[in-house]
Amino acid sequence: MKKKLILLFSISTISLPAFCQTYITDVTVVDVEKQQLMPHQTVTITGDIITGIQSSEKIKIPASATIIDGKGKFLMPGMTDAHIHFFQSGGLYTRPDGLDLRKYRPYRDEINWLHNNMEDLLRRYTQNGITTVVDVGSTNHFLQQRDSFENKSYAPYIHMTGPLITSFESPEFDSLKDDGPFSLVSTAEEGKKMVQQELPFHPDFIKVWYIVNEDTEDSIETTAKKFEPVFKAIVSEAHKNNLKVAVHATERFTAQLAAEDGCDYLVHEVDDNLITDDFIQLLKTKNIIVCPTLIVEDGYDNTFGQRNNYSFYDLTKSNPEAIGSLMDLKHLPDTAYINKLKSWVNGRMSIDNHIDSVRMANLKKMSDAGITIVAGTDAGNTGTQHASSYITELKDMKAAGMSNWQILRSATINPAKIFNKENITGSIVVGKKADMILLDANPVDSLDNLTKIALVFHKGAIIDPDTLIKETPLALVERQVNGFNARNMDAFLEPYSNDAQFYAFPDRPFDRPFIKGKENMRKNYAQLFKIAPNLHCEIKQRIIQSNFIIDKEHITGIDGPPVDGTVIYEIEDNKIKKAYFIQ
Ligand SMILES: [Zn+2]
Repeated sequence: MKKKLILLFSISTISLPAFCQTYITDVTVVDVEKQQLMPHQTVTITGDIITGIQSSEKIKIPASATIIDGKGKFLMPGMTDAHIHFFQSGGLYTRPDGLDLRKYRPYRDEINWLHNNMEDLLRRYTQNGITTVVDVGSTNHFLQQRDSFENKSYAPYIHMTGPLITSFESPEFDSLKDDGPFSLVSTAEEGKKMVQQELPFHPDFIKVWYIVNEDTEDSIETTAKKFEPVFKAIVSEAHKNNLKVAVHATERFTAQLAAEDGCDYLVHEVDDNLITDDFIQLLKTKNIIVCPTLIVEDGYDNTFGQRNNYSFYDLTKSNPEAIGSLMDLKHLPDTAYINKLKSWVNGRMSIDNHIDSVRMANLKKMSDAGITIVAGTDAGNTGTQHASSYITELKDMKAAGMSNWQILRSATINPAKIFNKENITGSIVVGKKADMILLDANPVDSLDNLTKIALVFHKGAIIDPDTLIKETPLALVERQVNGFNARNMDAFLEPYSNDAQFYAFPDRPFDRPFIKGKENMRKNYAQLFKIAPNLHCEIKQRIIQSNFIIDKEHITGIDGPPVDGTVIYEIEDNKIKKAYFIQ
């Protein structure tokens, strides 16, 4: 009898009824718990549960089943980014306390953009194999929005806290009410009340900033000790309500107090001192999980120092508006201020390298000692992109000395332990959720293979990741501008069709394009990208008219005076087909 065979290229998203069975045949299972590969397995999914893992030779497949050919492919658990923020875009205007550019973009616009684009960001996570996210500092409004994604197969599982409770708040975030990401606390009674105030919004846990205010004359120890009774009250109230407590504490001293006083999850690692064996022992005894977040500070430094060097992957997988905004520093009018920031940040590099090396050494030590390490990016902070920055974080963990197996565990089974879900998800075991990604290449050989995703199995659906993002004409044009500004030829050309044509008015009329085809564009732009390190295109004005985007462009960083021109982009079949230049 002919079986229902699913060809990989024909899937967009298939949602299967609970009783339907899917067989992934002859696949190599990545067993993150035993740290071994199991070749030639057939994995059975019923609804959204893994109901069988057997040697492919022995298995009989019922005629009614859906079959996915897993030959030559690798099946691993869906990944988790254990530290993100939906109230931050990853763009330039998202943290006015870091760089205040509210006169160019009001903070309200940024927050509105984030609510409007939450679905887009969620789709990007799933597209990149991240099927669970942990938002460790959010707002009441985002908690409400979270609930609307619960049954959507394109959206990862979301664990989210409310506004984070802190002894310190920057004035830029004052009076935002339910859009405020911080709750300022000064007494134990207030701490208890703030936990209670979050409860109606159903947070999945409570987050505390254990931050020592550097403005006081007291020592770190004295300031940290002063906050301890408040912290204890928050932990006690959270635990009373069965909520775990995640803590930001990056000094050795505050991290120790947090650990002693009931913290469950440290969302960053210690970076002011090399950690000692006593501290490791404390983490172990208390069963505390640690997220290193290695890349987030580089994101700020590279943006403010104007030395971002995004990869093709970043430029094509992240939200184009968010990543594109980082390049605005090249044209914002506050030249003196921005240049000062640039040289200050670049001059600070040597100190940062020191902190980086402390972080790397501490991570290696914790990982070797068997502390539960989870991978998290702190995405949303300026320069750290939702979804696409995850792979950079994993590679930094590798640079710190962790093995690929350890990193794969930190991306899968370890984060399941944050919320005691390790018996439900995080590895490929019969009875667990069928929350998995099918890869075209072996992730144990190279972390880059985590980007080669053929299919995502999530919430009972089988998803082709290429179909998750709705490509709009605007997104295509934005991505080619970003590629141009990054002088990344492949990213610049990617939105164009292979036979794209460029016309110039008034010199070259419609029938005579001055460039024909993508490969000729590559030749044409190669020299410019090579010799113009400050090349920058600013969009002065934009009109969006169905499948046409009309941009008024101002190009600097080239030999001679800036060039002003208008370009009409014509989009057809999800690619830029023609571009008309008017100068
Ligand atoms: Zn964070």
